[in-house]
Amino acid sequence: MSDKIKQTDALIIGASASGLMCAIEAGKRGRRVVVLDHANKAGKKILMSGGGRCNFTNIDVDASNFISHNPHFCKSALSRYTQRDFIALVNQYHIPHHERDLGKLFCDDSAKDILDMLLAECKKANVKIILNCDINYIEKNSDDSFSTSTSSGDYQSASLIIASGGLSIPKMCATPLGYKIAEQFGLKLWPTRPGLVPFTLQPDDRERLEVLSGISVRSLVSNERIGFNENILFTHRGLSGPAILQISSYWKAGEPVTINLLPDLDVIDWLTSRRDKQPQIKLKTVINEILPKRLVPVLLGQKFIEQPLQNLSKENISEIASQLNSWKIKPNATEGYRTAEVTIGGVNCDELSSKTMESNKVKGLYFIGEIVDVTGWLGGYNFQWAWSSGWCAGQVV
Ligand SMILES: Cc1cc2nc3c(=O)[nH]c(=O)nc-3n(C[C@H](O)[C@H](O)[C@H](O)COP(=O)(O)OP(=O)(O)OC[C@H]3O[C@@H](n4cnc5c(N)ncnc54)[C@H](O)[C@@H]3O)c2cc1C
Repeated sequence: MSDKIKQTDALIIGASASGLMCAIEAGKRGRRVVVLDHANKAGKKILMSGGGRCNFTNIDVDASNFISHNPHFCKSALSRYTQRDFIALVNQYHIPHHERDLGKLFCDDSAKDILDMLLAECKKANVKIILNCDINYIEKNSDDSFSTSTSSGDYQSASLIIASGGLSIPKMCATPLGYKIAEQFGLKLWPTRPGLVPFTLQPDDRERLEVLSGISVRSLVSNERIGFNENILFTHRGLSGPAILQISSYWKAGEPVTINLLPDLDVIDWLTSRRDKQPQIKLKTVINEILPKRLVPVLLGQKFIEQPLQNLSKENISEIASQLNSWKIKPNATEGYRTAEVTIGGVNCDELSSKTMESNKVKGLYFIGEIVDVTGWLGGYNFQWAWSSGWCAGQVV
C-alpha cells in the first residue's frame, strides 16, 4: 500500500448493471463512491445485451423466474426495487421502448440509452468511475474498513461492494475476481456453470440437422422439471433460440430434452382427422402447411413423407406424432462460457442479508448482481436482479 491512500465510503468493483445502480443510490445519499473496472468502458454487457437493444426488465417479475439454491432470497430485493421502479427511471429519461412477447421490455433504439442513463445518474450523484483499473489485492483492516490496492492507486473504504459479474463471455472482460474475493473472506460458493447457452449436438445429430441451420420454430422444450414455450433455432453448431437457452439453465449433462414442435396441436388427432377427410393427400403436403418445408424430411426421414395419408396405419401416425410432439434429443454439451448469457451458481445466498446484500460474516462486504447465486430466466430478469440487488446495497453502503 502506498502512503497516498484515497479515502472513500463505498468502493465498488464492477462498473456495469449492478455496480452502477448501487453507485447511483449510494451517491444520492451523499456517500463518497468510487467504482473501479478493469475494462476500458463501463457497462460492456449492457451494450451487447438484447441484441444491442437491452431487454432491461420484464413486465412480470416473480421469484419463480429465477434459479437459486435459496429460491426465497431474491424476493426481498425484487419487491423493494421493482421493475416498475426501473421503468419509471427509463420513462424519466424518455427512453423509447417497447414490449415484446412474454412481457420483455426492450429499447426501441439502442442499449446505449440505458447505459447513458445510468452514467448520467452517476454523474448527478458525484460517483467517480475509474476504468482500466486492475485490482491487486484487498485486505480487511482492524477498524473494519477495507484496503484495496489497484493499478490506479490504493483505496480505503468503509464498504466494499463486489459487482464483478459472472464468468460468461471472457472476451467482454468477465473474470473470476469476485469469486476469489468471496473465498478470501471465507464465504461459501455454489459451483458455477454456464446458463442461457446454446447446445452443441452429438456428431450424428449435428450432421443430420446442420442443413436446417437458420430455421426457427415455436416449440415447447422441456425436461422432467420444467418447460418453455418459445422459439428454437437450428444453427450450424447445434440448437439455440430462446426456448433452448431457457432449458439449458436447467439441463444436466447427459440428459435428453424433449421438443414439442407443435405444442398447440395433438398430431395424432389432427392426422387421423385429415386422413378421414383427405385420404389421398400426401403426408408431406399436410405437414408442410404447419412446419417449415426443410424441416419435415430431415425429422421424419423418407419413410412416410411421400405416402398418401390413407396408407398410414394407426401405429404409423403415432410414430410420426411422437417425432413431432415429443422429439427427444440428447445434447452433446453447451457452448460454454464463450457464448453463455449468464453464470449459474456463485456466492451462496445464505451468506448474505437478503435486505442489504451484506455478508453475514464480514461487516461492510457486499455482493450484488450476477455473482450471487441468483440467475434469471431469459426475458430481462437478469438485469432486474442487477438493478434490485444493486439498489438494496446502495441504500446502506
Ligand atoms: C450477450 C449477452 C446478452 C444479454 N442480454 C440480456 C438482456 O437482454 N436482458 C437481461 O436481463 N440480461 C441479459 N444478459 C445478462 C446480463 O448482461 C447480466 O446478468 C448483467 O450484466 C449482470 O450485471 P452485473 O453488474 O452483475 O455484472 P456485469 O454486467 O457482468 O458487470 C461486471 C463488471 O465487472 C467488471 N470486472 C470483471 N472482472 C473484473 C476485475 N477482475 N477487475 C475489475 N473489474 C472487473 C467487468 O468489466 C464488468 O464491467 C446478457 C448477457 C450477455 C452475455
